[in-house]
Amino acid sequence: MGAGLAGLTAALVLARAGKQVVLLEAERIAWGASGRNGGVVSPGYSTSFNKIASRTGYDNARLLHLLSIEGVEIVRNNIDCLDIQEAHLRDGALRVSRFENSVETQEHIKWMEQTFDYPLEYKSKEDVQDLLVSEKYFNGISDSRAFHFHPLNYAIGLANELINLGSKIFERSRAVKISRKNGTAVIETLSGLVRAKDVLITCGGYTDRLVPKLANSYIPISTYMVITESAKELISTAIRSTASVGDSRRSSDYYRLVDNGERILWGGMITTQQTEPARLGIMLKKRMIETYPQLASINIERSWSGKMAYAKHLMPQIGKLDEGLWYCMSFGGHGMNTTAIGGTVIAEAILRASDRYKLFSPFGLEWNGGILGTGAVQLTYWHYQIKDFMQERKSQNQIKIGVTPCP
Ligand SMILES: Cc1cc2nc3c(=O)[nH]c(=O)nc-3n(C[C@H](O)[C@H](O)[C@H](O)COP(=O)(O)OP(=O)(O)OC[C@H]3O[C@@H](n4cnc5c(N)ncnc54)[C@H](O)[C@@H]3O)c2cc1C
Repeated sequence: MGAGLAGLTAALVLARAGKQVVLLEAERIAWGASGRNGGVVSPGYSTSFNKIASRTGYDNARLLHLLSIEGVEIVRNNIDCLDIQEAHLRDGALRVSRFENSVETQEHIKWMEQTFDYPLEYKSKEDVQDLLVSEKYFNGISDSRAFHFHPLNYAIGLANELINLGSKIFERSRAVKISRKNGTAVIETLSGLVRAKDVLITCGGYTDRLVPKLANSYIPISTYMVITESAKELISTAIRSTASVGDSRRSSDYYRLVDNGERILWGGMITTQQTEPARLGIMLKKRMIETYPQLASINIERSWSGKMAYAKHLMPQIGKLDEGLWYCMSFGGHGMNTTAIGGTVIAEAILRASDRYKLFSPFGLEWNGGILGTGAVQLTYWHYQIKDFMQERKSQNQIKIGVTPCP
């Protein structure tokens, strides 16, 4: 249930293993976050390695991070094997800092190399500013194994392969009831029903109250995107890298050039509000020109929002509710690699091919805290924004009064 990238990936693994698969989607293929996102595919989760290790222990956290690297490779491999040209895969991701932290950055690069054999390249402030003409940026990290792509076209590519393999996809078919009779699950929609041995729920930030335990275990968070008009020459005065860019703030901006550098796709901000603000384009443009004042005259052509599911622990929720009833959700803002691994490990569990999904057991279905939980998330975000601002101001002031940052 749910044809986002979690559902599509799981369906594909099952179909490739010879299972009969039916995918029910309330709207259209990848209508939710999977078809609306920034398309940045990089390793990691929505929370840090240290936070993961503090709950699961170092060794489990290490395995989880390796799995997150595998997620990037699963997507790349699917694009290669299925020859999904429309996914427009482009290599490279730059993570840039808005405050001076060159020492920590270089230590992190060393640690990634030693712990995961994962190569990252350090970029000095000068290197960064050659690529991104903004006073706001300090040092950065270049990740050549990460990439960006057109997520909706990728999702459609997976759906086409499912159809080739004989699976059935029903769009505009919202599941409205799940019951179980004599060991078989019955999933009802308004226009028909499906009988299945196993049911997998992959409804992301659009999970409704069909299964109350799932509805009460995540918080739907909205985030925003805009795309600019075509303005290649003006854009080249600001962004000279074909890699995706994300900054290291807790409330970060992320963006990349699309259409061969003709336009910028820009994302940022999170909110627990469920309605889309009327001034969304203006709000994100303000963030864009705060970083790149030279883009002040650029027009925003389109803006949109999407909903992500976040658990309180910020990790994916992947597991079994009951005999034959599985869930795979809450990928937060880091879903492009994690939906690939989530979909894969849950399909492996259904096939009894592995129990890798149990690596996620320490991050179960915790209560989301109800209205208070939602309020707390919004307050935390505002708190982060203030902390980011203070940290940046400290770095800017250090430069102004001529203090040389530590080597
Ligand atoms: C604007 C935006 C930008 C983002 N940028 C990035 C990025 O650059 N990189 C990154 O890694 N992550 C990013 N993310 C996060 C990522 O998109 C999500 O984590 C991921 O797509 C979640 O996938 P999913 O399959 O779990 O859910 P979704 O893609 O939301 O799919 C859930 C589907 O379930 C369907 N559904 C719901 N209820 C029912 C029902 N009862 N019956 C049938 N179907 C149902 C919905 O219609 C929907 O299509 C971004 C998210 C947003 C919103």
